[in-house]
This record gives sequence, structure tokens and C-alpha cells, in this order.
Amino acid sequence: MKPLVMIVEDEAALVTVLRYNLEKEGYRVCEAMDGEEALTVFAESNPDLVLLDWMLPALSGIEVCRQLRRKPGVREVPIVMLTARGEEADKVRGLNTGADDYITKPFSVPELLARVKAHLRRVQPSQPKGVLEYDTVTMDLGAHRVTRAGRHVHLGPTEFRLLRFLMQNPGSVFSREALLNAVWGPDIYVEPRTVDVHIRRLRKALNTEGEVDLIRTVRAAGYALDASVTA
Ligand code: CA
Repeated sequence: MKPLVMIVEDEAALVTVLRYNLEKEGYRVCEAMDGEEALTVFAESNPDLVLLDWMLPALSGIEVCRQLRRKPGVREVPIVMLTARGEEADKVRGLNTGADDYITKPFSVPELLARVKAHLRRVQPSQPKGVLEYDTVTMDLGAHRVTRAGRHVHLGPTEFRLLRFLMQNPGSVFSREALLNAVWGPDIYVEPRTVDVHIRRLRKALNTEGEVDLIRTVRAAGYALDASVTA
């Protein structure tokens, strides 16, 4: 999903400019016009990054930043302060309160977008080294480890790749041919029925404790990872 950027700014014209440019870059945007609203919108929308004006009605940007940083889990969300003040002392104060960055108004839009992108990249590293999660299944791609509800799941290399592909595309239905292409590669010839064999092994490994089957068989179509349908 596209990252959600929260704009906290009481100057309507600036909000419009920021929203327009962020959306053009492909971000989703939510906004708050004062400090108290910022705390409410943050709690409701759970944004991936906050652009936070310093001079705000109701509650200053510094106070909003301090309160956000006190909440559990908010430590990781980048907060970029926007301010008309350019003094070094203020900058230090902002960073001490827990802001990650500081942009002085008037700022250039390309520079602001570059900073937003850099901060999001820092907190959302690209998938291959990360961890995939679906329902109670966790796949650590770096360590090549799979667990279900904390229990270690033993998978052969093909089942591992199959599960990885399904976890990267949860909810989508794939034909046997599509799975062969994605998991075995287009140049390898195997019978489409081979997919059934590996799906069966994967199910067996995932469901040793009699858990809900997460893999849905779609008649005449193929397979999907889908926790909403119990087999
Ligand atoms: Ca302001």
C-alpha cells in the first residue's frame, strides 16, 4: 500500500500545495489544522510519516511531537518539522523533542519530497531482507525461517518459495501455470499437477497442529492464500 503522510499545518494554502505534490508523488495524505486535531488524526489514521508545523493553534508542533513520541510504537514514525524559524537553537530544540528532521520555510517542494522519500525508505526497508506476515504465519526472508503462531514450520526449498510467493500476494488466486512460472521459473518444465503435490506438502507443514487452512483451493482456477475462507 502507498505510504500515508500526515500534514499538520494551519495555513490552508500550504496544505493545498503539500497535498497536491505528495499525491502527485503517489502518497496518500491526511491532514490536521491544529495541534489537538493532529493527535486525534494520528491515532485514527496511523500515518507512516508526519510533516509537522511548528507554529500551530491549540498545541504547538513541539508539544505535538513530544506527545507523539511518548506513545508506544510512534518512536519509529518519522516526524519532519516545518518552521519559519531558522535559528540553530530552535532546530536543536526540535530535534531534542524527537523530530527526525527540520525544514525551514519557505522550502523548495522537490527538496521536501526528497526528504520525505529518504525518511520513508529508512523506516520501510525493501522487502527481500524483511519479514512477511500473514495471519499467524511469519516468514523471515533473511534467516529463511517460517513460524506459525510461534511454532517453527519445516519447509523444503520449493514449499518455501511457494509460500513466499503466496505471502507476497495474499488474497490473489493463481492458476497452476502462474505458480509454476513464478515459483519454478518459466524455463523449467514440470507437470502442472506438481503444484498440487507441493501445495499439499505446504498445507501439511503449516497445519500440523490442526490449525485453520490458510490456502484456499479455487475449483478450476488454482490456489490463493486466504485466511477469510476456512476450508
Ligand atoms: Ca503555522
